[in-house]
Amino acid sequence: MTTIASVATAFPPFRYSQEDILHELQTSWAANNGNLATLARMHSRVGVATRNLVLPLDQYKELDTWGKANDCWIREAPVLGEQALRLAFALHLSFGSRLGEISASQIVVGTRSVRCRWLVGADGSHSRIREWSGLAHYRESHVRFGVRRHYRAKPWTDCVEVYWADGHQFYVTPVASDEICVALIGVDSKLRIEAAFEAFPRLRRRLEGVPYASCQRGAVTFSRTLKRVTKSNVALIGDAAGSVDAVTGIGISLALTQASALADALRVEDLSTYERHHRISMRLPIVMSHVLLALSENGVLRRRAIGALSSTSTGFDGLLALHVGYESSVQAWRKAASQLAWHFAFPSPAREA
Ligand SMILES: Cc1cc2nc3c(=O)[nH]c(=O)nc-3n(C[C@H](O)[C@H](O)[C@H](O)COP(=O)(O)OP(=O)(O)OC[C@H]3O[C@@H](n4cnc5c(N)ncnc54)[C@H](O)[C@@H]3O)c2cc1C
Repeated sequence: MTTIASVATAFPPFRYSQEDILHELQTSWAANNGNLATLARMHSRVGVATRNLVLPLDQYKELDTWGKANDCWIREAPVLGEQALRLAFALHLSFGSRLGEISASQIVVGTRSVRCRWLVGADGSHSRIREWSGLAHYRESHVRFGVRRHYRAKPWTDCVEVYWADGHQFYVTPVASDEICVALIGVDSKLRIEAAFEAFPRLRRRLEGVPYASCQRGAVTFSRTLKRVTKSNVALIGDAAGSVDAVTGIGISLALTQASALADALRVEDLSTYERHHRISMRLPIVMSHVLLALSENGVLRRRAIGALSSTSTGFDGLLALHVGYESSVQAWRKAASQLAWHFAFPSPAREA
């Protein structure tokens, strides 16, 4: 049976009564002609006497744009999350401790032994649990290297931009109202961001003279498929259970859906349902990863594909929806594939250039 090993809470520091919060909300809603009676009725039924907030109540007025509210969330939420996790682990295990000895029914974490009915290897691409359990039989098709640095710059778009050249890509992601993350992924382990800008003059011009907000950090991305991800009472999830190239941008999403599927399997004490889910959930990302890596390596194919994608916005949206799992129907597949195939086969000369 699955049991919850430890629970802890973390509260933001500013505590207010429900009446104080309602009063503040009514003041700002009145200024925007909001329906005060509905607001009061909703708040009379929430069933809580007090709330804890991350800012003093009167400072919420200053979060008047999505960007400011998002910055506040980025700043405060991880701190609270970490507090709760640290406390929960301190109650039960030792946060940040290394995994020691492993056996089928017991592991050592830090200085403590923990008995376990199930053993879940969520320990990343160099998983020790994978090695120990004998599940380390895999096929590895690509190994690439990533580096990233944050810049103190106002984002020029709210989209993630991907810049392509032979063998490597830049990703530019807005992460706060005054910060962007620039990541470079390629086959050359020695390539660094500044040197790689040579092939991307437009991006270099945008970032010339912009101060750094972090140092350069690196990691390796593997295209790796495991034969099996479960054995006896052991299950692997996330990168421990195999991965697709980072160009797909889907690693975290896969890890989260796998965690949910594994929780369902543990509830019925049957890991075979998770094994099946894992195999099916990796099919599309593996295909996408191969296609994107082929585009990375072949300039002619890449220009043709980008031409096709930019000729049909619905084809691109459809493909993206399928990739991130918003869509999975056969009709959606047919529609996206037929539109893209048409534009790929008959490119408009202007677009392809
Ligand atoms: C360059 C690069 C760019 C990427 N970009 C994206 C992206 O844009 N979007 C996306 O969704 N995904 C991206 N990914 C993939 C994503 O980072 C991974 O898929 C995701 O982090 C996998 O999560 P995980 O929990 O399985 O493993 P990890 O995030 O690796 O976590 C494993 C954890 O286990 C701990 N651990 C390992 N061994 C031990 C031990 N012996 N004892 C104690 N603790 C241990 C580690 O310290 C770590 O905290 C990228 C990956 C790379 C390399």
